[in-house]
Amino acid sequence: MTQMADAAHDETQGREDENWYTDAVRKAELADYSPVKGCMVIRPYGYALWENIQRPLDKMIKDTGHQNAYFPMFIPESFLNKEKEHVEGFAPECAVVTHGGGKKLEEPLIVRPTSETIINHMFAKWVQSWRDLPLLINQWANVVRWEMRTRLFLRTTEFLWQEGHTAHATPEEAEEETLKMLEVYRQLSEDWLALPVLTGQKTENERFRGAVRTYCIEAMMRDGKALQAGTSHNLGQNFAKAFGIQFQSQAGPLEHAWQTSWGVSTRLVGAIVLGHGDEKGLILPPKVAPYQVVIVPIYKSDEEKATVLQACRELESRLKDKIRVHLDDRDNYTPGFKFNHWEVRGVPVRFNIGPKDVANKVIEVAIRHSGTKERGISQDGIETYVVELLKKVQKEMFQRALDFRAKNTHQIDSYDGFKKQLDDNNGFIEAHWCEDDDCELKIKEETKATIRVMPFNWKPTPGKCIRCGKDSQKKVVFARAY
Ligand SMILES: [Zn+2]
Repeated sequence: MTQMADAAHDETQGREDENWYTDAVRKAELADYSPVKGCMVIRPYGYALWENIQRPLDKMIKDTGHQNAYFPMFIPESFLNKEKEHVEGFAPECAVVTHGGGKKLEEPLIVRPTSETIINHMFAKWVQSWRDLPLLINQWANVVRWEMRTRLFLRTTEFLWQEGHTAHATPEEAEEETLKMLEVYRQLSEDWLALPVLTGQKTENERFRGAVRTYCIEAMMRDGKALQAGTSHNLGQNFAKAFGIQFQSQAGPLEHAWQTSWGVSTRLVGAIVLGHGDEKGLILPPKVAPYQVVIVPIYKSDEEKATVLQACRELESRLKDKIRVHLDDRDNYTPGFKFNHWEVRGVPVRFNIGPKDVANKVIEVAIRHSGTKERGISQDGIETYVVELLKKVQKEMFQRALDFRAKNTHQIDSYDGFKKQLDDNNGFIEAHWCEDDDCELKIKEETKATIRVMPFNWKPTPGKCIRCGKDSQKKVVFARAY
């Protein structure tokens, strides 16, 4: 195949994936385009999914000692200029407010792309002594980053997230905090979203601008591409020095605080869609699904309708304290239409109930992720059955994603093999890298693959850099990414 044909082929493939994703999101009514380019409207079903991610995460954030607070969305332009690397990283994507109340503002205001600057300005006022530390704050907010190419949930100009910001008395405490929150994100992703993640450190090139070290969780999507699902940054004293966060140490002298910041966003909704979905649409893990079970009544005559609906309502009321259950009693749609409607939306379990089922006191159970059915399930003890079934589905979805990742992770030692693997089938590639920034950038230019993560606890396995052949001590994980 010629190079041009290759490129054309890639483009088609890209478009197909993109269409599948956008169709899945829109058909499930998770989100819609807004009149402002690059922004999205999160529809009720999508927002319910986000709330089910927020709720456990908020609890985990509080359980690890943090408090929620809220800071303004407008940041004086001068604040952003205080940390050199930070401003270089973010200035190009900032939205700037120049007018307010019909007048030109004396100082333009930035719509926050992230809140390090304004939060650390306040921290400088609040932190005086070692007794004020650690300061552990989290904010749930929207942020704005002017994006040129956008995709619902994955990359939008405005998005929702949480951003943690902390200040500590020692570098050891800051590092401990950075890793603790990365572990919280790992648990959220694996235990709630059923998405296995690699954890580790980002390279210099991929580091958050203004941080000393960036750690991340990386998930594999069903098309073999990587998705960065969360980051945790050790900021060292960079922002403390820029914003004058100083405290009187226990020993006496004034010292700059040691800081962290960490965040996950509505991108996680996109991760669930891309990480579990199939040709029919979404497949939601039970723990975050807005509806865990949908009951679909099946009847023909009015007489059947009365008995079936009554049985369905009884079932719904028995289950509604235990799980998120919904009875689809719409009269103007056929059962077939309803089956499809809830499959597209990824509801993990569906109960189909017809007149014979009512007479026999049984249910037909349809399971979304496996496409299987369990017939003749007794209505007695359905509460226990369904709770156990949802646990099983959650576990199987995680295992399936884990198996998929294992199957699509490759050990590759030649650059030609590396390129071929990416063009054929994407996936994660474990390969040697010389730790040179330029070599990493060349690989990105030549293959569109980036180093997603330098995983924790990998044993040294000396070898040669995949591209330049220089000595390398360890492998890293490459992939094309969203
Ligand atoms: Zn190299």
